[in-house]
Amino acid sequence: MSEETGGIGRFPTRRELLAAIGGAAATSSVDASGVTTREAPLRVRVYPGPVSIRAWARYGFSGITRNWPPPFRDAFAAIEDALNQVLSYASRQSRLTEFDVRLERGDLVQYPLSEASPSAESIIPSRDTVLSVFRDQVRGRNVGAGAESTAHVLFAWAPLNYRLGYGGTHPDLYRLGRVLGDGAYTAVNLGATEVWDSRVVSRNMAIHETLHTLISPSIAEAIGGTECDHDLGTAVRTDDGTLRVSPMATAYAGPDVAGINGGTRWPGTGCADIDRIHEGDPDAAVDQVEYTTELSDATLEAVTRFLEYVRDRLANDQPASG
Ligand SMILES: [Zn+2]
Repeated sequence: MSEETGGIGRFPTRRELLAAIGGAAATSSVDASGVTTREAPLRVRVYPGPVSIRAWARYGFSGITRNWPPPFRDAFAAIEDALNQVLSYASRQSRLTEFDVRLERGDLVQYPLSEASPSAESIIPSRDTVLSVFRDQVRGRNVGAGAESTAHVLFAWAPLNYRLGYGGTHPDLYRLGRVLGDGAYTAVNLGATEVWDSRVVSRNMAIHETLHTLISPSIAEAIGGTECDHDLGTAVRTDDGTLRVSPMATAYAGPDVAGINGGTRWPGTGCADIDRIHEGDPDAAVDQVEYTTELSDATLEAVTRFLEYVRDRLANDQPASG
């Protein structure tokens, strides 16, 4: 686990994110009476989707035995780093001191869509269909304890699926705690970010789609003034003519800001207030766009508050011990 850089303050506790390789079922249990054992109050579980032979060839078949090609590996590490940033931010303020997040690798998720009769849904499934299939597959497994406190993240490889786009959240289960007894489901289309953009965009979008499940509109509004969590991201003009875009603003920092596209090949289609996202001199020339996985202060605060909400809710749900 990388330590927080910058040397600001001192952390009262060392935060650890445990990345369990392989099946996640062993990390939790439900006993015969149905009493669940929680080892961590909140989990983020990342599942690889199928990757085409063409894509494997692109990466020299690296990671094929575990179905984790290099873009998936790097995106997973980016999520790990982002969660660590949140916990470090919270620790500096003595918040969430007894709270941990567990980051896990789930098993391969298949799309059984091709078995359906030929239709647009089987050839180019919509975002909602992808998320519904993903959710059904996860629910069909023994997801073990803590299912309702798990954000399930699908790494999809579908570079030509314009209906999925760069990814998105389940139509109903888009945030943890929204539906009693179920978790949250989100997908990031790493095939699209890799083929149309770059690895840095892949990293940022993996963080972006994951954090959608960990920010509520009311918290976003309390911090950023709008219910839109994209507005918590930043696009900062630096002195050397670079526009530096943080994860929640990735795909929303443009298009056509200062005469350039906002960076990604395809603009996001969700909510966004360009004026809130952009920081710095609006007339400054921008020569290039770069992406940073460093979360904005507003994003750090929003996720921290949401985790505090989850902690309090879980504490109330906890069965009486002894
Ligand atoms: Zn988004």
